[in-house]
Amino acid sequence: PSKTSTLIHRREEMSAQENRVMALSEWEDRWQEGKTGFHRSEVHNLLESNLDKVVCGRNEVRFFFPLCGKAVDMKWLADMGHTVVGVEISEKGIKQFFAEQNLAFNEEPVPAISGAKVFKSTDGKISIYQCDLYKFSSTVGGKFGGIWDRGALVAINPCDRQKYATLLMSLMNNDCRYLVDTLEYNPELYKGPPFFVSEEDVKNVFGGGCDVELLESVDAFEEKHKSWGLDSLTEKVYLLTPKAQ
Ligand code: SAH
Repeated sequence: PSKTSTLIHRREEMSAQENRVMALSEWEDRWQEGKTGFHRSEVHNLLESNLDKVVCGRNEVRFFFPLCGKAVDMKWLADMGHTVVGVEISEKGIKQFFAEQNLAFNEEPVPAISGAKVFKSTDGKISIYQCDLYKFSSTVGGKFGGIWDRGALVAINPCDRQKYATLLMSLMNNDCRYLVDTLEYNPELYKGPPFFVSEEDVKNVFGGGCDVELLESVDAFEEKHKSWGLDSLTEKVYLLTPKAQ
């Protein structure tokens, strides 16, 4: 294809999902109805294969999990001695996490965010804030040395990407290493979420503050994606690190 036709095609891809909006209540309904097909019972393969690049020899890293759901990866990292802070809107999802991982927890209000609660494992290693992500900030939760973003950048509404990236970058310590998992497919065929996120999209929203490095690209097409109408699906992880100041 000529460069022009590629550009036109690209513009169509962008507009296919640009205006799609999921309300917070729709996510909560999904949890109520048990429609949580995004959840995985095993540690994520791309977190496992790239963990060294994120931890980088450090001990007791403070990890942030935006839109954490009940990701088993939180327990996996906590068992290695790291601490984890997640943000998730669904109280049901948070309670399922602690129950399924056999972790005792306490529940406290978060005075800085009206209506929010924080659920903390009694050993203090895992805290999950139940609130809208956009109400969370470093004032509430501090800054982080590591971030695992799976089902988060791809789950937020495409129109909120810059707001999301600005918030996430404000949570990064100078030594923070942020691993972000993205999906590429033909957005004309499936409306999302998860949304299509290209390398260009990642660079557009994070490039101002971070260096962006593609670490791994894998074919992630499974049987279930046929019912989404897709014929191919590529999963890519990038490492984001703050630009030297
Ligand atoms: N990262 C998890 C969950 C991915 S699905 C995993 O990989 O399994 C996206 C999750 O984000 C859902 O659990 C949904 O309830 C939550 N969510 C969506 N928008 C949110 C928002 N604005 N604030 C907090 N949680 C949100």
